[in-house]
Amino acid sequence: MQEEIYVLRIGHRIERDKRVTTHVGLVARAFGAKGIFITNAENEIKSKIDQVTRIWGGPFICELIDVDWKKFISNWKNENGIIIHLTMYGLPVEEKIDEIRLRKEKKLVVVGAEKVPNELYYLSDYNISITNQPHSEIAALALFLDRFYSGKELSLKFSNAKLKIVPMERGKKVIESRI
Ligand code: SAM
Repeated sequence: MQEEIYVLRIGHRIERDKRVTTHVGLVARAFGAKGIFITNAENEIKSKIDQVTRIWGGPFICELIDVDWKKFISNWKNENGIIIHLTMYGLPVEEKIDEIRLRKEKKLVVVGAEKVPNELYYLSDYNISITNQPHSEIAALALFLDRFYSGKELSLKFSNAKLKIVPMERGKKVIESRI
């Protein structure tokens, strides 16, 4: 999967969103994104995500950013990238995903925490809903990436993994690699 797709997590609330933001990062990695940028968050979140990448493989980058999300988005667009904002108010993913997949530009998928600023709806190239019901950024991101990659991310191989699971019907088998 060559597609350059990254995630931007905005609106993280210190302490309160620690677990959710970490899971947004873990889902981004596991479901085939190349990296995550997180605005104003604890170092612990980056440490946890980087630790998973070290053990289970990559490539995946995690960056905590302290620039304003608007500035980040505008830089992304200046570098010829596109913005896909996941929101329950957007157009249904099933109507737009083929068009998004065909776009050649690097993609930034934005997920919020609490209510996102209105401007984001206008700065985004796409406002995409995963159902028009309220749920979670973790679920929305997982489903978006799955539709984007048409399920291919489920068999993604990670490089430089120290541990690999051998899937089995019952029990657990993990092999350690000598890298
Ligand atoms: N009520 C908030 C608002 O109006 O923006 C959303 C809060 S929700 C807990 C946090 C994030 O989850 C949203 O910013 C959005 O990225 C994502 N999200 C929640 N439901 C969604 C849906 N149905 N479709 C797409 N994204 C969704």
